[in-house]
Amino acid sequence: MEAAKSAIADSEYEQANYYFRQIIESNAAIPSEMPYYFAETLYELGQYDNSANFLQKYLQINGHTAENYKQAKELESQLEEPLQAIASCELCDYKGYRYEVCPTCHGSKQIEQECHYCKGHGIVGCSRCKGTGIVTKKNVFDITEYYQCSRCEGHGKLTCPVCEGSLSEISPCRTCSGFGKIKSDQICDHQEHQAHESKTESEEKVIGTESIFNNQ
Ligand SMILES: [Zn+2]
Ligand SMILES: [Zn+2]
Ligand SMILES: [Zn+2]
Ligand SMILES: [Zn+2]
Repeated sequence: MEAAKSAIADSEYEQANYYFRQIIESNAAIPSEMPYYFAETLYELGQYDNSANFLQKYLQINGHTAENYKQAKELESQLEEPLQAIASCELCDYKGYRYEVCPTCHGSKQIEQECHYCKGHGIVGCSRCKGTGIVTKKNVFDITEYYQCSRCEGHGKLTCPVCEGSLSEISPCRTCSGFGKIKSDQICDHQEHQAHESKTESEEKVIGTESIFNNQ
């Protein structure tokens, strides 16, 4: 806890985050002021939703007599703006993590994939004859008589009623549950980016010799 606090004092928030997670994972009693310092650290790391959760917990447990009550209230109002930005941004989820296009359906949400009903076999067992092709009946003399199953015509199998034998179906993508996008581990800046220009490429351009000479 002291190590984490001194990391915060040095603006070493990644380091502080590491110490806090160790405290949590150790299953030891959590110091009462810890949720506040953790919330502050998470705020600095841009994990606003997580920060707000710990801050709320801190205020709930300690109330207005808390050692860092004033600072906590301050952090609470500092969080309002980024939380609002996350809520109104369509490029990220409720925690502020950037969405990326689903790699399976490429954003089309529906996709042709293996039929879920027959698992891509195209045929399913006949339920009337339990796949045997034969049904039995008892006649008036209580003797069992055997008949060919009329439903599957004695084959014991039927063409899959879902894909009708095509082995595949068009249905909501299973990777993204038909959402078209999945959450990445990137924290969102709420800005539209150009599709094929990665951040490192644009940074390289800025420090490249060409741009230095062009600017002079
Ligand atoms: Zn998908
Ligand atoms: Zn049958
Ligand atoms: Zn099928
Ligand atoms: Zn966003």
